[in-house]
This record gives sequence, structure tokens and C-alpha cells, in this order.
Amino acid sequence: MPRILDGNRVRDEIKAELKPRVEALAATSRPPGLAVVLVGHNPASEIYVRNKVKTCQDLGIYSEKLTPPASITTDELLGVVNGLNANPKIDGILVQLPLPPQVDTKRILLSISPEKDVDGFHPCNVGNLVAQLPGPRACTPAGIIELLKRNQVAIAGKRAVVVGRSDIVGKPVSMLLLHEHATVTICHSKTPDLPAVCREADILVAAIGRAAMITADYIRPGATVVDVGTNYLTDRAEVARIFRNSAEKLAGFDRKGSALVGDVDPIDVVERASAYSPVPGGVGPLTIAMLMANTVASAERRLNVC
Ligand code: NAP
Repeated sequence: MPRILDGNRVRDEIKAELKPRVEALAATSRPPGLAVVLVGHNPASEIYVRNKVKTCQDLGIYSEKLTPPASITTDELLGVVNGLNANPKIDGILVQLPLPPQVDTKRILLSISPEKDVDGFHPCNVGNLVAQLPGPRACTPAGIIELLKRNQVAIAGKRAVVVGRSDIVGKPVSMLLLHEHATVTICHSKTPDLPAVCREADILVAAIGRAAMITADYIRPGATVVDVGTNYLTDRAEVARIFRNSAEKLAGFDRKGSALVGDVDPIDVVERASAYSPVPGGVGPLTIAMLMANTVASAERRLNVC
């Protein structure tokens, strides 16, 4: 049986390490502060934001949740972000995406002060990432590196293949793997013979958004497979096919009306990989943990304690 890269365990380790740093800041000056801006009512975003605020509370991080209406204009939202940029209690600003169509998302993300950009999406911080300068790193990619390192998966000298080239996952995780001295190939929808390229990987990262697309044919026997995908299936027949008629999965689907699956075939990966991150319970839990880590690091930088 392959090793399971357990994201919940790594998340708990990271949170346990952050707690004394938060307490030290609170004792000497003030707790770190995170502001989350949630525009309108998007049920998935509301769950993400609730989890972020709860994790702040667990760690003693001060949090503010701002909930402007879905009708907000770009200029009004720029005003909200500028207020947070100027707020001395706030070290991190997160604008939950997606934003309503009338709002210029790029302008909003650019308006976040780079030093408070705890998502690591601002071009200044993308530059810091590329140049290996200090600054917040995108949370999911940073979490993937923590998941590998804290499970003693060697990265230096290994062949890493990343499927997906998004600004949020694919590109930054490729850069972080490169900085860890992997030889990195980035693939996308125009890559010819993707299975053959993926089979070269010692470490295969799937960040595609296509349910169970990475099957046995893509996985070199003994590879480490990191599954970033979060796909909600609503077709019972697809659940039956992907989970090979698993009674447990089908019962879960019948209860909830959907089933979560990653970008990697959940059965094939067990048969081929030497280690893999499951969905759920792999990469997912680390995204919020790294958001907290970025917020604490931002507070330490702003309060000159590091
Ligand atoms: P995205 O912006 O849609 O990017 C998907 C990437 O996959 C693109 O680069 C696309 O190529 C590539 N792709 C699509 N179909 C392909 C195919 N058939 N063959 C090869 N490449 C293909 O998605 P994302 O934001 O990076 O997210 C990827 C997945 O990770 C999603 O399931 C998302 O929900 C999940 N995610 C999870 C977390 C977490 O915390 N666990 C965080 C972020 C994202 P092109 O560029 O050529 O179009």
C-alpha cells in the first residue's frame, strides 16, 4: 500500500507551530490581524470564509469579516480595500473570489497592499517568489511543499511534472518545486502526449479541475502523486464508474447529492504510486493553514519581530 500524505496531520503541526508565535505577538504588541472580504452570497465562498474565520479564532488571530452586497461597484470595493490597507490592526487582506461580474477583479487584487497580500497573488509577490525574496507565497502551492517536506519526500534532483498552469496553483507550485531543486515540467491543455510526459515524473502534481483525469497510464510506478483537484460530482453513474461501484461512496452520494473527487483516479493511484495525497484530506486542509502562516509572518514583518 502506498503512503498517504496526510494533510490534516500536517495542518495540525503547522497550527501548533503558529500558536506560540501568535501568543508572542499578542503579549508584546498585538495579535496578527486578517480581514476577509466576502462580496454577496456564494454558498461555497461562505463555507471557505467561515472556515478561515474559525481557524483565526482557534489560533488567537484577530479577524474581521466584511460582507458588502453583490451590487457593489469596483470603486466602492476599492474603497473597502484601501480602508483595510490603512488599518494598522490588519496584517493580511483576503478578497474571496469569485467577485460579481461588474467588479474588475484584477484592479481589486492589484489594490491590495503587497505587504498585506496574504494570498500571494499580487505581481510584486509573484516577483518575490520568482526572485526567491521574502514575501507571502500562494497558499495552496506553499501547502503542497509543506506536505512533501513534512512527509520526507525528497524533492532535490527529482523529476517533477505539474499538470496545470494557473496563476493560483500550477505556476507558483512549479516555481517552488524548482527552488527546491526539482527538474520541473509544466503541462497544460495543449501538451502533446500528456500521459507520456506525466510518466516521467517522480513527483506528479495534478491541478487541472477534471475529475479523475489522471489514470494509471499517467503514473510511473512508485511515483509520488499530489492531487490538488476538488471536483464535485453530481452524476451518480460517474460516481459509480470512478469509485468502481463502491457501496460506501454511492451511499454518501445518495445522502448528499454530490461526491468529491480529485483530478487523480482514486483507485489507480493506490495501485501505482508509492505515496499520494487523498481527496479529501490531502492538499485541501493546508491552504487555510498556509494563509494563517502568511498572516503571522506578515504581522512579524510589520511589527519588526523577525
Ligand atoms: P484552472 O485555473 O482552471 O487551471 C486548470 C489548468 O489545467 C489549466 O492550466 C488548464 O490548461 C489545465 N487543463 C485543463 N484541462 C486539461 C487537460 N485536459 N489536459 C491538460 N491540462 C488541462 O484551475 P486551478 O485554479 O489551477 O485549480 C485546479 C484544481 O485545483 C481545481 O479542481 C480546483 O478546484 C483545485 N484547487 C484546490 C485548492 C485546494 O485548496 N485544495 C486550491 C486551489 C485549487 P490551459 O491553461 O491550457 O487551459
